[in-house]
Amino acid sequence: MIWLWAARLLVVWVTILAMEGVAALGHRFVMHGAGWVWHRSHHVSAGRGLEANDIFSLGFAILTIGLFVLAGGPRAWLYWVAVGVTIYGVLYAWLHEFLVHRRLGWRPTARRGYLARLVVAHHLHHATRTRQGAVSFGFLYAPPLPALRSRLRAKAGSLAP
Ligand SMILES: [Zn+2]
Ligand SMILES: [Zn+2]
Repeated sequence: MIWLWAARLLVVWVTILAMEGVAALGHRFVMHGAGWVWHRSHHVSAGRGLEANDIFSLGFAILTIGLFVLAGGPRAWLYWVAVGVTIYGVLYAWLHEFLVHRRLGWRPTARRGYLARLVVAHHLHHATRTRQGAVSFGFLYAPPLPALRSRLRAKAGSLAP
């Protein structure tokens, strides 16, 4: 029994880690690619009312509900994948929507440590309002800030006419 729960927890944990990879790659290549038509709204007016970009969150929510529906019988493990995706969604909403962009008017801010780095890194992502030239596409992980700043400068230089 303990092993069954250990296996379930492992599936949840691996799913959360994998989702950060999926989200970062999706942000880099889909949202800053063909999906820019919707994601652009988030770079132009982040945190002010509803954005076309929210379609992505809605899509993920529908996919997650689909996973719960598909789980069961021989696919019981899928339930724990869906739990992992849900936890990732909650973390994403808390960190990205509420802590960074202060939607719902949430005021507390992170001053030091991991959360502060995450907030600054995401603001560096928003330093560009164009599809190209952005840095830091993850939501739960942010590279060290000095590295991000120099990459941002290098990209800005290479985009200059
Ligand atoms: Zn972006
Ligand atoms: Zn953002």
